[in-house]
Amino acid sequence: MNSSDSPQLDAEVLLANVLGTDRSRLYAHPEMTPSRTSAADFKRLLNSRRAGCPVAYLTGSREFRSMVLRVTRHTLIPRPETELLVEAALERIPGHGRAGILDLGTGSGAIGVAVAAARPYCTVTAVDLSTDALAVARENAAANGVANISFRQSDWFGNLHNRRFDAILCNPPYVEFPRSALPPGEIRFEPRLALDGGHNGTDCIRIIIFGALRHINQGGFMIIEHAHDQGDYVRQQFRINHYRDISTRRDYAGLERYTCALRP
Ligand code: GLN
Repeated sequence: MNSSDSPQLDAEVLLANVLGTDRSRLYAHPEMTPSRTSAADFKRLLNSRRAGCPVAYLTGSREFRSMVLRVTRHTLIPRPETELLVEAALERIPGHGRAGILDLGTGSGAIGVAVAAARPYCTVTAVDLSTDALAVARENAAANGVANISFRQSDWFGNLHNRRFDAILCNPPYVEFPRSALPPGEIRFEPRLALDGGHNGTDCIRIIIFGALRHINQGGFMIIEHAHDQGDYVRQQFRINHYRDISTRRDYAGLERYTCALRP
């Protein structure tokens, strides 16, 4: 049995989902009686939630900035702190800019679709190793009416040939594996491909910062998300690879969470 920080909210969200409505209607119509099927569906969801399954996987959706994104077991559930990575990117891309942007390891498409929606004159390329994740990301672009984004299956830069971008945005897997135990909580339900950063959690970060050198235009930038205790390592990797203007920003909890660098 697992405990939730917000059992009442979870139950309301799941009930509203089963009834095809939203939480406010549950309060507005307390007389609503669920059908037998709905009641059985609700019970099933509650049991899965009790077993620890994240609400987002049970409802199949998660809000990210102003969008509702579909999520499945093939995609990481977008985190609020990743919204800050999007904000940092948008600060660097002018509203009418025509930059070429790469979302490396797009998962549900959260970063790529959000940036493409906010910067309609830019062209976003979103890649992922997982074709299952890419299918979800494509759906999310279409559902949010975003057309200035294209998708490609690629193992990091493997399938991008000589293409270069003005900005590379990346939320790589950065959790340390192997470890004696997975961190507790909902992360156990999320795809290992999206989390497993290997030794110290930094294997992918190292490969990406080095690989990006061949794929960023001069004067372009990269922003990479990382764990709160990986800031020193990430800045060092950027320095070793001769990037400039390296700066780390903190998340809502005040922890170092992503680092930006320029390609001179
Ligand atoms: N932010 C996630 C967590 O620590 C990890 C996501 C990732 O590895 N990119 O729960």
